[in-house]
Amino acid sequence: METHFCWKCQKEMPFLDENEWKKVSPLLRPSMQELRDYLTLHRCSLQVARSAVKTQVGIKFEQITGMSGIHFDTIYHHRRSDWGPVCGQCGLLLRTSKAKLCAQCWTVAEPEPVMPPPYKLPIKKSLVAALGLILLILLCGPWLLYAYGLSNITGSPEPAKIALISPENKALIWKELKEQGAIQVEVLTPYDIYSLLLDKPYPAGTCLAWYVARNYNHDHLQDRRMLYWHISGEALTVWLTRHWSSDELLAKALEIRQSKAKP
Ligand SMILES: [Zn+2]
Ligand SMILES: [Zn+2]
Repeated sequence: METHFCWKCQKEMPFLDENEWKKVSPLLRPSMQELRDYLTLHRCSLQVARSAVKTQVGIKFEQITGMSGIHFDTIYHHRRSDWGPVCGQCGLLLRTSKAKLCAQCWTVAEPEPVMPPPYKLPIKKSLVAALGLILLILLCGPWLLYAYGLSNITGSPEPAKIALISPENKALIWKELKEQGAIQVEVLTPYDIYSLLLDKPYPAGTCLAWYVARNYNHDHLQDRRMLYWHISGEALTVWLTRHWSSDELLAKALEIRQSKAKP
Protein backbone atom coordinates (compact mmCIF):
# COMPACT_ATOMS: atom_id res chain seq x y z
CA MET A 1 0.00 0.00 0.00
CA GLU A 2 1.16 3.52 -0.81
CA THR A 3 -0.34 6.85 0.22
CA HIS A 4 -0.71 9.62 -2.35
CA PHE A 5 -2.84 12.68 -2.94
CA CYS A 6 -5.92 11.59 -4.92
CA TRP A 7 -7.27 14.31 -7.19
CA LYS A 8 -10.68 12.61 -7.30
CA CYS A 9 -11.02 12.42 -3.50
CA GLN A 10 -9.04 15.68 -3.07
CA LYS A 11 -7.06 14.27 -0.14
CA GLU A 12 -4.28 11.87 0.80
CA MET A 13 -5.56 8.35 0.20
CA PRO A 14 -4.24 4.80 0.34
CA PHE A 15 -3.55 3.10 -2.99
CA LEU A 16 -3.59 -0.71 -3.07
CA ASP A 17 -0.83 -2.84 -4.52
CA GLU A 18 -1.69 -5.88 -6.65
CA ASN A 19 -1.70 -8.31 -3.72
CA GLU A 20 -4.09 -6.12 -1.75
CA TRP A 21 -6.19 -5.53 -4.85
CA LYS A 22 -6.64 -9.29 -5.26
CA LYS A 23 -8.24 -9.43 -1.81
CA VAL A 24 -10.48 -6.42 -2.36
CA SER A 25 -11.63 -6.59 -5.98
CA PRO A 26 -13.82 -9.75 -5.73
CA LEU A 27 -15.93 -7.93 -3.11
CA LEU A 28 -16.68 -4.86 -5.27
CA ARG A 29 -19.65 -6.25 -7.20
CA PRO A 30 -21.32 -8.05 -4.24
CA SER A 31 -21.04 -4.84 -2.23
CA MET A 32 -22.89 -2.94 -4.94
CA GLN A 33 -25.68 -5.47 -4.55
CA GLU A 34 -25.66 -5.04 -0.75
CA LEU A 35 -26.35 -1.34 -1.23
CA ARG A 36 -29.10 -2.03 -3.78
CA ASP A 37 -30.73 -4.52 -1.40
CA TYR A 38 -30.69 -1.93 1.40
CA LEU A 39 -32.29 0.67 -0.84
CA THR A 40 -35.04 -1.76 -1.91
CA LEU A 41 -35.76 -2.81 1.64
CA HIS A 42 -35.77 0.58 3.31
CA ARG A 43 -36.84 2.80 0.39
CA CYS A 44 -34.48 5.49 1.65
CA SER A 45 -32.20 7.89 -0.21
CA LEU A 46 -28.84 6.77 -1.61
CA GLN A 47 -27.07 9.03 0.84
CA VAL A 48 -28.80 7.41 3.81
CA ALA A 49 -28.10 3.94 2.44
CA ARG A 50 -24.40 4.74 1.89
CA SER A 51 -23.92 5.84 5.47
CA ALA A 52 -25.99 2.99 6.90
CA VAL A 53 -24.57 -0.01 5.05
CA LYS A 54 -21.18 -1.36 5.98
CA THR A 55 -20.26 -3.26 2.81
CA GLN A 56 -17.89 -6.26 2.66
CA VAL A 57 -15.50 -4.38 0.42
CA GLY A 58 -15.49 -1.42 2.84
CA ILE A 59 -14.66 -3.74 5.73
CA LYS A 60 -11.80 -5.38 3.77
CA PHE A 61 -10.46 -1.96 2.70
CA GLU A 62 -10.48 -0.83 6.33
CA GLN A 63 -8.63 -4.01 7.41
CA ILE A 64 -5.87 -3.27 4.90
CA THR A 65 -5.62 0.53 5.10
CA GLY A 66 -7.11 1.42 8.50
CA MET A 67 -9.47 3.84 6.74
CA SER A 68 -13.17 3.29 7.44
CA GLY A 69 -16.36 4.39 5.70
CA ILE A 70 -14.96 4.10 2.14
CA HIS A 71 -17.39 2.86 -0.50
CA PHE A 72 -16.86 0.66 -3.53
CA ASP A 73 -17.11 3.54 -6.00
CA THR A 74 -14.17 5.22 -4.27
CA ILE A 75 -12.21 2.01 -3.75
CA TYR A 76 -12.55 1.32 -7.47
CA HIS A 77 -10.07 4.05 -8.37
CA HIS A 78 -7.53 3.22 -5.66
CA ARG A 79 -5.66 0.47 -7.43
CA ARG A 80 -2.05 1.73 -7.64
CA SER A 81 -1.25 0.06 -10.97
CA ASP A 82 -4.04 2.03 -12.71
CA TRP A 83 -2.06 5.22 -11.97
CA GLY A 84 1.19 6.48 -13.37
CA PRO A 85 4.47 7.30 -11.63
CA VAL A 86 4.87 10.21 -9.22
CA CYS A 87 5.35 13.54 -11.03
CA GLY A 88 8.92 14.76 -10.56
CA GLN A 89 7.72 18.34 -10.35
CA CYS A 90 4.59 18.45 -8.13
CA GLY A 91 4.73 15.02 -6.49
CA LEU A 92 1.24 13.92 -7.54
CA LEU A 93 0.51 10.67 -9.28
CA LEU A 94 0.15 10.82 -13.04
CA ARG A 95 -3.48 10.06 -13.71
CA THR A 96 -3.07 6.91 -15.79
CA SER A 97 -0.31 4.35 -16.16
CA LYS A 98 0.28 5.56 -19.75
CA ALA A 99 0.17 9.33 -19.04
CA LYS A 100 3.01 11.29 -20.63
CA LEU A 101 2.10 14.56 -18.95
CA CYS A 102 1.19 15.59 -15.41
CA ALA A 103 -2.39 16.96 -15.46
CA GLN A 104 -1.62 19.06 -12.39
CA CYS A 105 1.51 20.98 -13.43
CA TRP A 106 1.89 19.97 -17.14
CA THR A 107 5.36 18.59 -16.62
CA VAL A 108 6.34 15.98 -19.19
CA ALA A 109 6.84 12.64 -17.46
CA GLU A 110 10.26 11.02 -17.66
CA PRO A 111 10.14 7.64 -19.35
CA GLU A 112 10.38 4.69 -16.96
CA PRO A 113 13.77 2.98 -17.18
CA VAL A 114 13.38 -0.19 -19.19
CA MET A 115 14.90 -3.11 -17.35
CA PRO A 116 16.33 -5.89 -19.50
CA PRO A 117 14.48 -9.16 -18.97
CA PRO A 118 16.20 -11.48 -16.52
CA TYR A 119 18.66 -13.74 -18.29
CA LYS A 120 17.95 -16.90 -16.37
CA LEU A 121 16.97 -19.77 -18.61
CA PRO A 122 20.06 -19.92 -20.86
CA ILE A 123 22.36 -19.97 -17.79
CA LYS A 124 20.33 -22.84 -16.38
CA LYS A 125 20.43 -24.63 -19.71
CA SER A 126 24.17 -24.23 -20.19
CA LEU A 127 24.76 -25.39 -16.62
CA VAL A 128 22.76 -28.55 -17.29
CA ALA A 129 24.69 -29.03 -20.55
CA ALA A 130 28.03 -28.56 -18.78
CA LEU A 131 27.06 -31.03 -16.04
CA GLY A 132 25.89 -33.49 -18.69
CA LEU A 133 29.20 -33.15 -20.52
CA ILE A 134 31.20 -33.68 -17.33
CA LEU A 135 29.10 -36.75 -16.54
CA LEU A 136 29.65 -38.08 -20.06
CA ILE A 137 33.42 -37.56 -19.77
CA LEU A 138 33.45 -39.26 -16.36
CA LEU A 139 31.43 -42.19 -17.74
CA CYS A 140 33.13 -42.64 -21.12
CA GLY A 141 36.61 -41.23 -20.42
CA PRO A 142 38.07 -44.29 -18.66
CA TRP A 143 36.78 -46.66 -21.37
CA LEU A 144 38.22 -44.47 -24.12
CA LEU A 145 41.59 -44.29 -22.32
CA TYR A 146 41.45 -48.08 -21.79
CA ALA A 147 40.78 -48.69 -25.49
CA TYR A 148 43.45 -46.19 -26.53
CA GLY A 149 45.98 -47.60 -24.03
CA LEU A 150 45.51 -51.12 -25.37
CA SER A 151 45.71 -49.97 -29.00
CA ASN A 152 49.17 -48.53 -28.25
CA ILE A 153 50.47 -52.00 -27.29
CA THR A 154 51.67 -54.44 -29.94
CA GLY A 155 50.51 -58.04 -29.44
CA SER A 156 49.57 -59.32 -25.97
CA PRO A 157 51.56 -61.00 -23.18
CA GLU A 158 52.06 -64.78 -23.36
CA PRO A 159 51.17 -66.83 -20.28
CA ALA A 160 54.11 -68.23 -18.32
CA LYS A 161 55.74 -71.48 -19.31
CA ILE A 162 55.79 -72.56 -15.66
CA ALA A 163 52.88 -75.00 -15.36
CA LEU A 164 52.53 -75.11 -11.62
CA ILE A 165 53.55 -72.67 -8.93
CA SER A 166 53.99 -73.78 -5.32
CA PRO A 167 52.03 -72.12 -2.49
CA GLU A 168 55.34 -70.88 -1.01
CA ASN A 169 56.30 -69.17 -4.26
CA LYS A 170 52.82 -67.67 -4.57
CA ALA A 171 53.10 -66.21 -1.07
CA LEU A 172 56.63 -64.97 -1.79
CA ILE A 173 55.68 -63.16 -5.02
CA TRP A 174 52.50 -61.78 -3.41
CA LYS A 175 54.53 -60.34 -0.53
CA GLU A 176 57.41 -59.05 -2.65
CA LEU A 177 55.03 -57.12 -4.86
CA LYS A 178 53.64 -55.48 -1.70
CA GLU A 179 50.24 -57.14 -2.02
CA GLN A 180 48.32 -57.72 1.20
CA GLY A 181 45.60 -60.08 2.44
CA ALA A 182 44.41 -63.26 0.74
CA ILE A 183 46.08 -64.20 -2.58
CA GLN A 184 43.23 -63.34 -4.95
CA VAL A 185 43.42 -60.86 -7.81
CA GLU A 186 40.39 -58.53 -8.01
CA VAL A 187 38.92 -57.98 -11.45
CA LEU A 188 39.37 -54.29 -12.36
CA THR A 189 37.38 -52.05 -14.68
CA PRO A 190 38.63 -48.89 -16.38
CA TYR A 191 36.73 -46.96 -13.67
CA ASP A 192 39.31 -48.13 -11.13
CA ILE A 193 41.47 -45.35 -12.51
CA TYR A 194 39.40 -43.11 -10.18
CA SER A 195 40.46 -45.06 -7.08
CA LEU A 196 44.07 -44.73 -8.30
CA LEU A 197 43.60 -40.98 -8.78
CA LEU A 198 41.87 -40.57 -5.41
CA ASP A 199 44.80 -42.31 -3.71
CA LYS A 200 42.61 -45.05 -2.29
CA PRO A 201 44.23 -48.40 -1.41
CA TYR A 202 44.71 -50.37 -4.63
CA PRO A 203 42.41 -53.37 -5.16
CA ALA A 204 44.14 -56.71 -4.38
CA GLY A 205 46.34 -57.90 -7.23
CA THR A 206 46.79 -54.47 -8.86
CA CYS A 207 50.53 -54.34 -8.09
CA LEU A 208 50.97 -57.91 -9.37
CA ALA A 209 49.14 -57.17 -12.63
CA TRP A 210 51.00 -53.86 -12.97
CA TYR A 211 54.32 -55.71 -12.58
CA VAL A 212 53.44 -58.06 -15.43
CA ALA A 213 52.02 -55.24 -17.58
CA ARG A 214 55.04 -52.98 -17.08
CA ASN A 215 57.43 -55.78 -18.02
CA TYR A 216 55.50 -56.49 -21.23
CA ASN A 217 55.04 -52.84 -22.19
CA HIS A 218 58.76 -52.24 -21.79
CA ASP A 219 59.36 -53.28 -25.40
CA HIS A 220 55.86 -53.46 -26.90
CA LEU A 221 54.74 -49.83 -27.02
CA GLN A 222 54.26 -47.89 -30.24
CA ASP A 223 54.39 -44.53 -28.46
CA ARG A 224 56.69 -44.57 -25.47
CA ARG A 225 56.24 -41.02 -24.27
CA MET A 226 55.61 -40.77 -20.52
CA LEU A 227 51.87 -40.02 -20.73
CA TYR A 228 51.20 -42.88 -23.17
CA TRP A 229 53.42 -45.18 -21.15
CA HIS A 230 51.16 -44.54 -18.13
CA ILE A 231 47.91 -44.90 -20.05
CA SER A 232 49.00 -48.16 -21.68
CA GLY A 233 50.37 -49.46 -18.36
CA GLU A 234 47.06 -48.88 -16.64
CA ALA A 235 45.12 -50.30 -19.59
CA LEU A 236 47.11 -53.52 -19.68
CA THR A 237 46.92 -53.86 -15.87
CA VAL A 238 43.12 -53.71 -16.08
CA TRP A 239 43.09 -56.06 -19.08
CA LEU A 240 45.26 -58.67 -17.28
CA THR A 241 43.00 -58.77 -14.20
CA ARG A 242 40.05 -59.36 -16.54
CA HIS A 243 41.64 -62.05 -18.74
CA TRP A 244 44.15 -63.89 -16.55
CA SER A 245 43.59 -65.84 -13.33
CA SER A 246 45.47 -65.10 -10.11
CA ASP A 247 47.63 -68.20 -10.67
CA GLU A 248 48.51 -67.17 -14.23
CA LEU A 249 49.56 -63.73 -13.05
CA LEU A 250 51.61 -65.14 -10.17
CA ALA A 251 53.32 -67.66 -12.48
CA LYS A 252 54.14 -64.94 -14.99
CA ALA A 253 55.53 -62.69 -12.27
CA LEU A 254 57.69 -65.56 -11.01
CA GLU A 255 58.94 -66.24 -14.55
CA ILE A 256 59.86 -62.57 -14.99
CA ARG A 257 61.70 -62.54 -11.69
CA GLN A 258 63.61 -65.68 -12.55
CA SER A 259 64.57 -64.35 -15.99
CA LYS A 260 65.84 -61.14 -14.41
CA ALA A 261 67.78 -63.03 -11.71
CA LYS A 262 69.74 -64.90 -14.38
CA PRO A 263 73.18 -63.37 -15.05
ZN1 LIG B 1 -9.62 8.85 -4.66
ZN1 LIG C 1 3.00 17.41 -11.69
